[in-house]
Amino acid sequence: MMKCKKCGEKASVNMRQHRMALCREHFLEWIPEQTERFIKKYNMFTRDEKILVAVSGGKDSLSLWDILVRLGYQADGLYLGLGIDEGIHYSEESHRLTDEFARKNDLKLHVVNIEKEYGHSIPALSQMSHRGYGKPCSVCGLAKRHEMNRIARDLGYDVLATGHNLDDEAAVLFGNTLHWASDYLLRQGPVLPSSDGLARKVKPLCRFYEREMAAYAIMREIEYIYEECPFAAGATQVFYKEFLNQLETVRPGTKLTFYLRFLEARQSGALFIQRDAAHAHIRPCEKCGQPTSAPGLCSFCRMIEKMNVAVADSLPEDGDDQPYEE
Ligand code: SF4
Ligand code: ZN
Repeated sequence: MMKCKKCGEKASVNMRQHRMALCREHFLEWIPEQTERFIKKYNMFTRDEKILVAVSGGKDSLSLWDILVRLGYQADGLYLGLGIDEGIHYSEESHRLTDEFARKNDLKLHVVNIEKEYGHSIPALSQMSHRGYGKPCSVCGLAKRHEMNRIARDLGYDVLATGHNLDDEAAVLFGNTLHWASDYLLRQGPVLPSSDGLARKVKPLCRFYEREMAAYAIMREIEYIYEECPFAAGATQVFYKEFLNQLETVRPGTKLTFYLRFLEARQSGALFIQRDAAHAHIRPCEKCGQPTSAPGLCSFCRMIEKMNVAVADSLPEDGDDQPYEE
């Protein structure tokens, strides 16, 4: 029988990468303790700052919200309605669970529905825009980033927190390394400082394994959506995760070492990346004011503009009113 390192009782979670097993009680203490340590280590935020947590209804983001509140931080939630209702009614169900969590814990939740806000759901936008070759993920990512930034800025939040765990971060890092995507490598990390009107972005769970977050959510009895977004299946990132899990099985700690050594190398300047290149020619979007490297509109506003023109063109002609022009 595996014993808890702290009390010697029967362990519930074994973390091979730390050579440590913990019982339920001590695991539920350890997770927030460690989170607090990472928040301080990477200077994520203080107790005086207002945090907006992007919640999707999944285990990571709801657990993150739960942990921050347990630690006494001022954390409100933001749920983005993507209008993904293929198959399992993913958006509907994840919204319901997020709402329920907020209500149960008496927390403030902002809800933004992309379709109501811009006239098209994510799958509809994706179909019309030809971005992403039939998968809406590219449009979805663009819209999520844009809307999270917009809400954080409009509502005066200091920092935007997302529930990315180590498995997510290691998979992204693996992909970026395979492609030597230096712009992305430069920006990947637990904290992306605020810049040009964008809120600081932080990932307080970036050093926890996915299975640890699942264990936390279950032990805390957090009701979350088990199903992945129906569009996640077959994504390259899923493949990278499986591959890294295979490495992890043979060599426990591989994922953690891969990620932490990357952070160290970046910190020390050992990665030969031209630091100025990524920030060249950034200017505010003419429509929404968010920074963009494109002249005129940012990619999100450009996409919405195009959609609206496409919709207007497909409408039967009834006079010369041009509802989509400003
Ligand atoms: Fe959006 Fe793709 Fe993630 Fe689904 S899997 S939520 S479409 S990015
Ligand atoms: Zn814009």
